[in-house]
Amino acid sequence: MTKKLFIKTWGCQMNVYDSTRMVDVLAPLGYRPVDEPDGADMVILNTCHIREKAAEKVFSELGRLRQMKDRKAEAEDGRMILAVAGCVAQAEGEEIVARAPFVDMVFGPQTYHTLPEMVAKASRAAGSVLNTDFPAESKFDLLPEESGAQGVAAFLAVQEGCDKFCTFCVVPYTRGAEFSRPAGQILAEAKRLVAGGTREITLLGQNVNAWHGDGPDGATWGLGRLIRELAEIDGLARIRYTTSHPRDMADDLIRAHAEVPQLMPYLHLPVQAGSDRVLAAMNRKHSADDYRRLVDRLRDAKPDLAMSGDFIVGFPGETDADFAQTLKLVTEIGYAQAYSFKYSVRPGTPASAEGAQLPEEVKEARLEALRQLLDAQQVAFNHGFVGRSVPVLFDRVGRRDGQLLGRSPWMQSVHAEADERLLGRIVEVRVDAARANSLAGTVVTTETTTGEYVTASPFQPAVTLEASA
Ligand code: SAM
Ligand code: SF4
Repeated sequence: MTKKLFIKTWGCQMNVYDSTRMVDVLAPLGYRPVDEPDGADMVILNTCHIREKAAEKVFSELGRLRQMKDRKAEAEDGRMILAVAGCVAQAEGEEIVARAPFVDMVFGPQTYHTLPEMVAKASRAAGSVLNTDFPAESKFDLLPEESGAQGVAAFLAVQEGCDKFCTFCVVPYTRGAEFSRPAGQILAEAKRLVAGGTREITLLGQNVNAWHGDGPDGATWGLGRLIRELAEIDGLARIRYTTSHPRDMADDLIRAHAEVPQLMPYLHLPVQAGSDRVLAAMNRKHSADDYRRLVDRLRDAKPDLAMSGDFIVGFPGETDADFAQTLKLVTEIGYAQAYSFKYSVRPGTPASAEGAQLPEEVKEARLEALRQLLDAQQVAFNHGFVGRSVPVLFDRVGRRDGQLLGRSPWMQSVHAEADERLLGRIVEVRVDAARANSLAGTVVTTETTTGEYVTASPFQPAVTLEASA
């Protein structure tokens, strides 16, 4: 019998990947994903703990879900199994069980491969099943194959956890020690994704460029080598990876940007701050100049590389002069897109115990100043594309009828009027307008009577694009 499964996902792409894998694990038990929680047989909240208020959001969501659970029971429509997963579950599992005893299962990111056993236990016994171990076995060795096609653009986790212990960050505690999946397992998953229609794969990891795995040839491979091997998969048109740490940018990975056409010219490389004093206090183990030199080398290898990053403002003890160094670095690098956050105290991390926590107004003002600068850079970057033709991989239908959405190589979201048959294809689009977060364009690739897709645009010579899906 089919059972309804609703998963709500917060946070990073790794959580999105984990949620799709939970669907795979639960598929043999008859669970199929649905779009809303009301009436569902199982609801999983896949949570994020990276910044504050995460736990409060979870508890308020649980309050709403409890009513749905009670309604379902009163209507004698079976039982709703309620679960909290992810990093809040890992960090605050016992508190969740104590404050919300109506929750049936609480489990961390490393144990969801055991969902069938947890479901069996939760169905038998009253009270919550709590599973926040860091098991010796790797969940990746025990997860089933994907239960269905994963879409045109899919995530593939290659690395998880972190040993870097930046002083502000909970990841080493919630996701555990750094772990790399073996290359053979990753290549097999990638081939299955491509066979199911995926054209773009984003390799995921908390420090994805620290990936080093056993290759099928017995040698230890780095990410550059893995990307070269993935590029050999017929039908895989685009490869991306995120998130990278500046200290793990190996020479071979930089060369891959120059040499592998499938590797897209966009790199998310967080620096966090521009002041060496703050970087040292954050335990980043790189200076602002190390980062500048690294970006220079990357741009020498790939001149059109679009840079993205993460920034934290208001780290304990950050002065106006420190913050000015962040603005200077941003001005020099020039970002196509970036994420910026106010420092948020994470219990248990070294920075949370610092005496020199900054007032909220100071953090607010710095965040506003940094965002203005980053937004202006993003707008300028996008405006530079108006009138140009860019190859877009359409991966979704748009909100408006007849509209498709996709991504440029530089990660911009692009929308255009287009036939649904162009979903999953790389199509030339002339950019007509640029907004802060997206580009609007016109498809200049057309289908010939022989079923080929050709581009006849005034901007580029006519080229034949893939004729078959
Ligand atoms: N591993 C990546 C790196 O080292 O750059 C980052 C992973 S973390 C999940 C994503 C981002 O969240 C970080 O780059 C950082 O900017 C932000 N972040 C993490 N902890 C934070 C905190 N306590 N306060 C504010 N932002 C935080
Ligand atoms: Fe967190 Fe990234 Fe630092 Fe690891 S390297 S502790 S994930 S910010």
